[in-house]
Amino acid sequence: MESAVKEIVNVSKYLFNRKLVSGKAGNVSSRVKTEFSDIIAITPTMQSLADIKEEDVVLLDLDGNLLTKGKPSSEFKLHLSIYKKRPDVNGIVHTHSPFATGFSFSTKRIKRLEGFGKISTPYLEDIDYEIPGSDELALKSSLAIGKEDVLILKHHGVLATGESVEEAGALAEFVEDIAKTQFISHMLNISE
Ligand SMILES: [Zn+2]
Repeated sequence: MESAVKEIVNVSKYLFNRKLVSGKAGNVSSRVKTEFSDIIAITPTMQSLADIKEEDVVLLDLDGNLLTKGKPSSEFKLHLSIYKKRPDVNGIVHTHSPFATGFSFSTKRIKRLEGFGKISTPYLEDIDYEIPGSDELALKSSLAIGKEDVLILKHHGVLATGESVEEAGALAEFVEDIAKTQFISHMLNISE
């Protein structure tokens, strides 16, 4: 459990330092499989990811019952819904990183670029807007995730998953980079 909590602290700081999250936005979680049940460690609500400490990380069971003190991220239902649907996912990162979120507020979709492994679909999967933190957002995301590792939440942000929380963090960064590349190439083509 301790290492999962440390990983969350490290990934949270990384995301902040890389400017993938700002203010008090964004949330990070990790699943620890135990003999009896899964425990989810998640960042707390209303706190900047820049200065999360190990004692701030909140533990939940898969049904959302609190196992420690503190208040989990307002998006904890979103995280739990993905863990329930995908036993292979052990880390989730949600950001409002500017380029990828910019796409989410437009009619343009983010193309899959190399680095995602086998490219089976041309664009990242996206889901229609639902109120942040809502049951509807959690449900819609769990229905859309399928075998995807990333979801673009329309008019909201990015959800990246991984076998570990570090992997999810790296993927969130990669998604921001490809969105930036796509944006730049689009602008260059317009001005020709
Ligand atoms: Zn959000």
